[in-house]
Amino acid sequence: MTDFEGLVAVVTGGASGIGLATANLLSSRGASVAALDLNPDVKDPLVGVRTDVSDDESVQSAIAEVVERFGRLDIVVNNAGIGAQGDVSANSDEEWLRVLNVNVVGMARVARAALPHLRNSPSAAIVNTCSIAAWAGLPQRVLYSASKGAVYGLTLAMAADHVREGIRVNAVAPGTADTPWVGRLLDSAPDPAAERAALEARQPHGRLVSADEVAGAIAYLASPLSGSTAGTILAVDGGMYGLRLRPKP
Ligand code: NAD
Repeated sequence: MTDFEGLVAVVTGGASGIGLATANLLSSRGASVAALDLNPDVKDPLVGVRTDVSDDESVQSAIAEVVERFGRLDIVVNNAGIGAQGDVSANSDEEWLRVLNVNVVGMARVARAALPHLRNSPSAAIVNTCSIAAWAGLPQRVLYSASKGAVYGLTLAMAADHVREGIRVNAVAPGTADTPWVGRLLDSAPDPAAERAALEARQPHGRLVSADEVAGAIAYLASPLSGSTAGTILAVDGGMYGLRLRPKP
C-alpha cells in the first residue's frame, strides 16, 4: 500500500516497541517518518529526533526540526509513555506528576506544537496510544490507568474540537503487547514464565498482542483512506475489553 505517499509523520516513542513498529509501517506505506524519542536510535529511512515529551521546549524544537526538514507535517502518533505499578497508595506525588507529565501532558504538548502545521494538511490525523487500562480495572496499575483514562478523555475531546477543521483524532487501546517494555516487566517478575502465562491467559485469544498488530491499527486510523473515522478508541486486545468467554473445558 502507498496510502501515506507524500505525507510526513512524527511518532513519539518511535524508537522502540509499538512506536518503532508504527514508524516502520508508515514509512513502508510511503510516509516520511521522524521518530521523536529520548533515545532516537533508528535506522534509515526513519529519521530520529531526540525529544523529551515531558519538556515543552524539546517538543517545540523537535516539531520545528521536522517541519524544517520535510516542509510539512500531516500525522502525529502520540505514543511515548511510561509505566507505573502499585495500588493507589504506592506512588508519591512526585511519581504521579512524573507519569502524568509524560503520558498525558506529553500528548497535549506534541499536539499543541503540531496543530498549526496539521491545519495546512489535506490529510491531517492524530492517533494517541491509549490502553486496555483506560477502560478495564487491572490490579496494581492505579497511576498508569489514571494516565490512560485521561488519554481516552483527551482523545474524544480533541476529536470534537478538530473534526470540523479536517483533523481527525483517534486512539488505539492495546492489550498487553509483546514489546521491550513488557519484556522488562517480565524479567523483573519472580517467575517470568509464570507471569507471561498469566498475561497471555488474561487475553481471550490466549497470547500477547504484537507490536505490528497495534501498528496496523494505528496506520488504519492515521490513513487518508479512513477519512470518516474520528473520535474512535480502537481496541487491539484479543477481545479482552469486550468479550466474556466461558472457562476452557
Ligand atoms: P517501549 O518502552 O518499548 O517504547 C516506549 C518508547 O518511548 C521508548 O523508545 C522510550 O525511549 C520512549 N519514551 C519514554 N519516555 C519518553 C519521553 N519522555 N519522551 C520521548 N520518548 C519517550 O514501550 P511500548 O510497550 O512500545 O509502549 C508504547 C506505548 O504503548 C506507551 O504509551 C504505552 O503506555 C502503550 N501501551 C503499551 C502496552 C504494552 O503492553 N506494551 C499496552 C497498552 C499500551
